Amino acid sequence: MSFQALKLIDPLLRTLESLGYDKPTPVQQQAIPAVLAGRDLLAAAQTGTGKTAGFALPLLQRLTMEGGKAAPQSVRCLVLAPTRELAEQVYESFRRYGGNLPLRSSVAYGGVAIDPQLAKLRKGLDVLVATPGRLLDLHRQGAVNFGELQTLVLDEADRMLDLGFAQDLDALFAVLPAERQTLLFSATFSDAIRAMAGKLLSNPVSVQASPVNAAARTVRQMVYTTDKKTKPALFLHLLRTKRWGQALVFVKTRKGADQLVSQLQAEGISADAIHGDKPQPARLRALERFKAREVQLLVATDVAARGLDIQALPLVVNFDLPTVAEDYVHRIGRTGRAGAEGEAVSLVCADEVELLRAIETLTRQVLKRDEVPGFEADHRVPSTGTPAAGAKPSQAARRASAARPGRPMAPQGLPKGAVIVAGGKGAKAAAKAAAKNVAKAMARGGRSPGGRSGKR
Ligand code: AMP
Repeated sequence: MSFQALKLIDPLLRTLESLGYDKPTPVQQQAIPAVLAGRDLLAAAQTGTGKTAGFALPLLQRLTMEGGKAAPQSVRCLVLAPTRELAEQVYESFRRYGGNLPLRSSVAYGGVAIDPQLAKLRKGLDVLVATPGRLLDLHRQGAVNFGELQTLVLDEADRMLDLGFAQDLDALFAVLPAERQTLLFSATFSDAIRAMAGKLLSNPVSVQASPVNAAARTVRQMVYTTDKKTKPALFLHLLRTKRWGQALVFVKTRKGADQLVSQLQAEGISADAIHGDKPQPARLRALERFKAREVQLLVATDVAARGLDIQALPLVVNFDLPTVAEDYVHRIGRTGRAGAEGEAVSLVCADEVELLRAIETLTRQVLKRDEVPGFEADHRVPSTGTPAAGAKPSQAARRASAARPGRPMAPQGLPKGAVIVAGGKGAKAAAKAAAKNVAKAMARGGRSPGGRSGKR
């Protein structure tokens, strides 16, 4: 199917051609006709599916075809996004796709001065992309009028709820016109999301999309077991010996991100952090420098990294495992894009075993573990689940148990009989099966059939 077949107007087709988009992605094929027809939409789609163009293109087209312009302080089309970075990215997409159209768009989020946002609103906007908190502030100041609102888009609705925006959203929904088109995009579908969809959508078209390029299928996953205190040294060692290039490095906390960046910089490695404590301009600057390849490592927390569109990333490192298993799937989805080979490396210490277990349960795989001599864990990190037949303990494990006679393979409190899967035919078969499962999990938006397995 072509973009022409989706009946997009010439100015949009010209833009798409100049961007090198040959054909619509599955989510675009499903969403564009429905949105053009004015239908509500319930879309299971995460970053990487082309979802942004899936709603931006038809909305830009409708606004153009209807003609007219927004009255002062009015907004014709509103897109709500969970984070400043995602809001900025979606706004950039509207600007890019709407480059040949006479429409006014803007973006509003917290953490930066409100005055320029007020000034933009004063003239009226065809498209406003905003985070819920700042938009509510603007509304309370009487700066925005929703009387002319035609379409509401909720992008990454699940993440908006995760970030505690439920109340802000309810307050906003209460002041939007009931008569409108609503599009809801979410990677996962909890009861709360379903309830929200039930309340907001009227006879919606359902859209389901797996990532454009099935990222996970091409992602090699690896776990290195180590100790908490040895992690930074192991990371540096791997960085140098494996000659890692650019990588997105995930850590658990904001403090952890800053600490790691300092350690790396002290070693002469260019690194920058992106997390919620950083002022917005600094976050955007870090992202731009990383995209421009001026910085080798971008150290991020999950919240800050969510939704970021960083293309052709060869490597994702989980310096800390995520506390929510689904985030593992989101994280590794940052690599292996566009069919490129990608690698996801996780550094796991003893107190992350439960997290690893949750990830393995969610993705239904046994992750291949290895150790680097000199950086081993004091305690073995056991494999979970049922290892594939024929799986053997790793060389490192055999070496470790030979070197330390009498030391149990599995530390106390872990299941008896747990073994390390790090090599052998069985492990290869397990890894192959696992890659398939991750691809499926990504297509499901990281949700296991039995529901969430990670702790919130
Ligand atoms: P999204 O899922 O909206 O974050 O988009 C992911 C990436 O895919 C963005 O970098 C888009 O520019 C790109 N993209 C979206 N649609 C297409 C398409 N039809 N062909 C090629 N690339 C696309």
